[in-house]
Amino acid sequence: MTVPFLDLKPDAALQAELDAAYRRVMESGWYILGEEVASFEAAFAAHCGVRYCVGVGNGLEALHLILRAYGIGSGDDVIVPANTYIATWLAVSHAGARVVPVEPSSRTFNLDPDRLDAAITPRTRAIVAVHLYGQPADMTAIVEFAQRHGLKVVEDAAQGHGGRYRGRRVGGLGDAAGWSFYPGKNLGAFGDAGAVTTNDEQLAERLRVLRNYGSQAKYYNEVKGMNSRLDPLQAAFLQVKLKHLDEWNERRRCVAHTYLDGLHAIPELTLPFVPDWAEPAWHLFVVRHPQRELLQQHLRQAGIETLIHYPVPPHLSTAYADCGWPSGAFPITEEIAHSVLSLPIGPTLDAIAAAQTVSAVRTFAAASGAV
Ligand SMILES: *Cc1c(COP(=O)(O)O)cnc(C)c1O
Repeated sequence: MTVPFLDLKPDAALQAELDAAYRRVMESGWYILGEEVASFEAAFAAHCGVRYCVGVGNGLEALHLILRAYGIGSGDDVIVPANTYIATWLAVSHAGARVVPVEPSSRTFNLDPDRLDAAITPRTRAIVAVHLYGQPADMTAIVEFAQRHGLKVVEDAAQGHGGRYRGRRVGGLGDAAGWSFYPGKNLGAFGDAGAVTTNDEQLAERLRVLRNYGSQAKYYNEVKGMNSRLDPLQAAFLQVKLKHLDEWNERRRCVAHTYLDGLHAIPELTLPFVPDWAEPAWHLFVVRHPQRELLQQHLRQAGIETLIHYPVPPHLSTAYADCGWPSGAFPITEEIAHSVLSLPIGPTLDAIAAAQTVSAVRTFAAASGAV
């Protein structure tokens, strides 16, 4: 049996509801913003435990628009994790601000709050904290630091749907959160989609203007806005899927625990570290191994699909070559990029597939003399 990394096809049980959502939108004659978007925004805000949700085109634009709405741009510095998906950085760069990368904790892979002090400059305006792989960042420490220095805290929650930090949902832990509903995320649309959640009423109002050509009243443009609106069809689909997010995340949690129990104490294999305050969304299950390529090859031969998130850290990508960071500039991040491997996880991965993955990793370890 082959174990796919992630199966994106919708659950057959949802087909009738998705078809009904599709027909409702088609027959409404209304295809930009409107009721469907407003209704999903209300549902998602409630899910996150925040007052406002503003639906936008995708996750990158969600983050970008938050920064713009706060007036962060040219001449400003924004602290970002060195270890993240490049979209976190691009949101800052597109706003015209400078990225100031900070190394992760080597245990959690997330932004290390103890390193913030060394990264701050007189121009620092904000910190973007990423809940990477669905593991919540250490928000209390980050928010306390930000408050001491008058900085905004933006959560990049694109991998965090449904996760909790100290019992609270991610997405309401800083000043604002950017979400992606890219199909592969824990809550995924059937195309591109994104949102911002916040308790900041003024920010929500500015975002509604910025996402819609900078206008509140059609053809009266207050600012140079963008076209970044959540598609009503995607909003209708997302609302169907949102009702199942907790149950799907529970399934991910079961797979993660099968891996954590089945793979512990294998020499050289590092499992995800979950602090006691974290309830991860388990977007990805990322292990580290010094012979990551050999492990990946072994699993491929056993029919198990794995991926690498991410092979090239943003500072070494060609896109950021102009910043001139040399190899070795962020050694913890680079070590992570060299050794990580993501095992299959998802809401439809069953116990048999998870057990098969565990046994294939164990045979690799046994063959390489580690067990
Ligand atoms: C997916 C992702 C984004 C960007 O989302 P898009 O909807 O693809 O633009 C941003 N940050 C992180 C951490 C992501 O994983």
